[in-house]
Amino acid sequence: MSGIIQKYDEATGHLSKTQIYKIGKLLENNCIIKLNPHCYKSLPIKGYNKSNYTINIIGTNYFTCTCQWFTMKKLECSHIAAVKRFINKELEADQRVLF
Ligand SMILES: [Zn+2]
Repeated sequence: MSGIIQKYDEATGHLSKTQIYKIGKLLENNCIIKLNPHCYKSLPIKGYNKSNYTINIIGTNYFTCTCQWFTMKKLECSHIAAVKRFINKELEADQRVLF
């Protein structure tokens, strides 16, 4: 059954180049949707995949995701990374409104 699972970078456990590319795509295509401050959704990238994932924030800084990568590895996936960037952008926008 192990053949079904896509190749992961076992050696480093870090995000691969394709994942970094995917994070950019997720943000570019507005695939990250805020449901509430503790729950985000990652929508499919057109022509790339068809899966919806839910990203939950537990406490202040623990992110979980429903995708296979996170479920198996308990490591930050591209969806979590994209949500973190999304939140940072939102904070920057808030600061602009304030001043
Ligand atoms: Zn994920």
